[in-house]
Amino acid sequence: MLDFSLSPEQIDFKQKARQFAKDVVLPAAWHYDEKDELPLWVLQKANDAGIMNTDIPKEYGGAGYGLVEGAIVTEEIAAACPGLATSIFDNSLGFEPIVISDNDHLKQKYLPEIAKNSKRICFATSEPMMGSDVAGMQCRAIKDGEDYILNGTKYWITNSAVADYMTIFATIDPDKKHDGICAFIVEKDWEGVRVGRHIPKLGQRTSNTAGINLKNVRVPGENMLAPPGKGFVLAMKTFSRTRPIIGAFAVGAARSAMEYAIDYAKKRRSFGGKLHTYQALQFKLAEMYQKVETSRLLVLKGAWEADSGMDPIITASIGKFYATESAMQVLNDALQIFGGYGYTKMFPIEKLLRDTRLFTIYEGTSEIQRMIVAGYLLSSYEPVMPSIDDVPILVGADQLFDSDGKAADTQAWRCPLCGYVHYGEEHPDECPFCFVSGKGFKKIWPL
Ligand SMILES: Cc1cc2nc3c(=O)[nH]c(=O)nc-3n(C[C@H](O)[C@H](O)[C@H](O)COP(=O)(O)OP(=O)(O)OC[C@H]3O[C@@H](n4cnc5c(N)ncnc54)[C@H](O)[C@@H]3O)c2cc1C
Repeated sequence: MLDFSLSPEQIDFKQKARQFAKDVVLPAAWHYDEKDELPLWVLQKANDAGIMNTDIPKEYGGAGYGLVEGAIVTEEIAAACPGLATSIFDNSLGFEPIVISDNDHLKQKYLPEIAKNSKRICFATSEPMMGSDVAGMQCRAIKDGEDYILNGTKYWITNSAVADYMTIFATIDPDKKHDGICAFIVEKDWEGVRVGRHIPKLGQRTSNTAGINLKNVRVPGENMLAPPGKGFVLAMKTFSRTRPIIGAFAVGAARSAMEYAIDYAKKRRSFGGKLHTYQALQFKLAEMYQKVETSRLLVLKGAWEADSGMDPIITASIGKFYATESAMQVLNDALQIFGGYGYTKMFPIEKLLRDTRLFTIYEGTSEIQRMIVAGYLLSSYEPVMPSIDDVPILVGADQLFDSDGKAADTQAWRCPLCGYVHYGEEHPDECPFCFVSGKGFKKIWPL
């Protein structure tokens, strides 16, 4: 059964998030963007309102929602402020590796603290010299008795300045690449943990981004989330579940840009008429909506696959690069509709565009998503159509079928190079077009 409708509970949840976005997030957005500051009180209110940490399982004190609900809520928050949506959702990115791990000890220890006591957790794979190539990380984890000692720097870490806990990925040996990577839960106040200055950014200025330096940080063995060799897979599985949410950020930002553009086009006059009466602008609006709708479908499909226990990796990647690139196109068109005013800080498009620009970069750039999808297509994708050598392109024969569709009693042979089709009992000696030997001709008829 295919059903695109939301349940009454999901509709209520969306409504709640929508109200929160308009009442709390929207009024804070431009002020804190200008200040380049994360308003922690918004995160606290989001937590109190039940729209943060939505996917912590009930058995660990959470609400136990799925990724579909996460995507629904996130779209609403991002429509008001993509930067605050990043800050709110970042907790889920941080604890997702714990949720999907099989480490019950760490689940018991940390998830209830996050769910009930408003603790914050960030996620760290990236480093100053490495982002896309996760297997190339340098941060070292050296075993010392039962403990591990961490040394290195993680960079670009969202919420690191305000996090209580950190999900840190490190390697026992950089030369081992994927096989050396492991993961730990580190507490911010442990000796040797330092957070750098807030990194000034183009957009998403309402989210905190900083580096984390780890100097001889002693991590008890029980805080190892993934042993060496399992950390890379854990990071990738996490991304498969969080990329639909990045897509939802993009849907929210694009949707609100479209709504603002419609509103403006109905009010602004030029050449004696309102902008919205000109077909050139109507076409832009139609394409914006097309992109918002198609992006949302892809995002929800990825989230639904994850909630249904499937591996969402491919849909998550397609959804991420489609939704995030579409959102940039929508923002660009929206700014065009606003003309000069769109380029100013007095109207909402300028900030939305700056915030949206990040989506094609973090949690795997658009290029990385294409690499994942292309890798799948070239290795595991199962085609329906026959191999190109076997396609019955039956051209060049008169009356191959009679009026009842009965085939003539003949055989057809196809040149492996130029595609010429030869009819007869035997293949030709050579191709009359490209002169390749007839021995290479393949029989394509009868099937
Ligand atoms: C605001 C912000 C917040 C972030 N938050 C976090 C966080 O919380 N946690 C975290 O771990 N990281 C975080 N990141 C890091 C982010 O995930 C990385 O920036 C991203 O993965 C890209 O890595 P990079 O910047 O090192 O670029 P690079 O990996 O150096 O890539 C540079 C460019 O080259 C392209 N490229 C690289 N390799 C290839 C290839 N083989 N083929 C084709 N193109 C290629 C990339 O797509 C990109 O366009 C954040 C980044 C930003 C800007």
